[in-house]
Amino acid sequence: MRLDLTEIAQHVGKQMSYQVDEPASSIEDVPVLSPIQGNLRFTNTGDLLLVRGFLHATVQMECSRCLRLFEMPLLCEVEEQVELRAVAARPHEHPQVTIIPEEGDNLFLEGNILDLSELIRQMLIVSLPIKPLHDPKCKGLCPTCGADLNEGECSCERPVGHPAFAALARLLAQMEEA
Ligand SMILES: [Zn+2]
Ligand SMILES: [Zn+2]
Repeated sequence: MRLDLTEIAQHVGKQMSYQVDEPASSIEDVPVLSPIQGNLRFTNTGDLLLVRGFLHATVQMECSRCLRLFEMPLLCEVEEQVELRAVAARPHEHPQVTIIPEEGDNLFLEGNILDLSELIRQMLIVSLPIKPLHDPKCKGLCPTCGADLNEGECSCERPVGHPAFAALARLLAQMEEA
């Protein structure tokens, strides 16, 4: 999906709304289970072209503790902007407003053409959690036998307390002895 921004770039104060409804596919290796929907509003403020709005979709993720697959709603806010500048091709000619893409802007512009599919893809990628959890209280898998501890305790012995605290306790004991 590509969006031509030439028209809005020429008119200061102009606004344009765009309803996003892209078919489900996958982003990176993450299956998208629903269409990607949302709304984007483009505003020409004179110096800037603002892009504001939101996107939502349901994705399938793998819990980082217990490895089960689960559905997760993703909601991301879009807040981007790009500079506008009036440039005359020749002196005395009526200046044409041109979009000035910047290094590091996230709009994927080619001239005045916005690559909307790429913008949407990138927005969703950055809103994916790094360590997804199917439940914030997920107990994870037993490191010894691999049993899913959400289903119940296994018979393996488990060290008491967090390993980091155990290490700290040993360190404190050593300091006291010294
Ligand atoms: Zn889990
Ligand atoms: Zn176990």
